[in-house]
Amino acid sequence: MPLDLKALVRTIPDYPKKGILFRDITTLIEHPEGFKESIERIASQYRGQGITHVAGIEARGFIFGAGVAIALGVGFIPIRKKGKLPGETIGQNYALEYGVDTIEIHADVLDGDDKVLLVDDLIATGGTAIAAVGLLRRTGATVEDAAFVIDLPDLGGADKLKAERVVVSALIA
Ligand code: 5GP
Repeated sequence: MPLDLKALVRTIPDYPKKGILFRDITTLIEHPEGFKESIERIASQYRGQGITHVAGIEARGFIFGAGVAIALGVGFIPIRKKGKLPGETIGQNYALEYGVDTIEIHADVLDGDDKVLLVDDLIATGGTAIAAVGLLRRTGATVEDAAFVIDLPDLGGADKLKAERVVVSALIA
């Protein structure tokens, strides 16, 4: 019987600030079968589809993205916050509730022959994922798929990503 992954995610009220219900995935990844099954259920949707790389968004996207990359037998690309990558980078700004943030990848990591699966732990408003897809596409790579452990559908991010011609999957909605 498949595990109830939703039951393994803990909800913490008022984090990082009052009124926010934070979905805490540490309880999922601390559970050996829960973590393994999360990775396997994501990877199984993308086998045989010509994915050449998995890109994960700092920081929780690294945890799931790295596992999915290993399961698919492809390389992993870290999408990092500004200033963390040592080589030449390209970056993309995106709006936060207050202010702007920037994500970066190495400029030479992808080209037009590549097909990338984007992975993150959670999609809420979609701002982070849309910035990541835009950044990856600037390399010439194809980005048609994004996988999340959790979708918060009321926040509309998955719909916004679909409007960018990305097929979205989530294990928990
Ligand atoms: P968005 O840009 O879609 O509004 O927010 C998604 C990003 O913020 C993801 O990178 C995700 O890791 C983080 N995030 C926002 N809310 C939560 C939450 O409740 N739980 C977790 N684990 N991550 C969140």
